[in-house]
Amino acid sequence: MGEESVPEQFETLLPLAVQWATEEEERILREGVPLAEDEIVDAVAMGVRNPKRIRLLQVDEIPAPRHPILKAAAGAIRFLTPAPRGLALCHGIFIRSDRSLIVHELAHTAQYERLGGILPFLRKYLFECLTIGYSQAPLEQEAISMANRVCGSQVS
Ligand SMILES: [Zn+2]
Repeated sequence: MGEESVPEQFETLLPLAVQWATEEEERILREGVPLAEDEIVDAVAMGVRNPKRIRLLQVDEIPAPRHPILKAAAGAIRFLTPAPRGLALCHGIFIRSDRSLIVHELAHTAQYERLGGILPFLRKYLFECLTIGYSQAPLEQEAISMANRVCGSQVS
């Protein structure tokens, strides 16, 4: 691939990216919610000139473009990996829903309650993490499967 092909590829890519971002922004502006007052303060501090135009849309997963060329490019520049927590498309901002995260932590809270507080929980949890490893620790596995039962398979 010669250096000359880069601007050519870029000129193919750019209009596709613009079209995708424009459509997604329109969707967010239609379906999203305006910023809360403290978020408007943050937006102003960031230098946003039209904070009242901004809409936030909570999604389970940040959508990725389906067009094969865009998809490949997005992967190549790591603009849209499977796990981004947010994505701004001008005044439309995707925010990944944190419900799965909260549900996972609630499962740990239930374990604290069941085991009788911080000391007994940490005694068991840390022991498991140190001997079996964090990802395979039974308390961790239980929290993952409990959260999966409540809100699908997107929990880690
Ligand atoms: Zn956990």
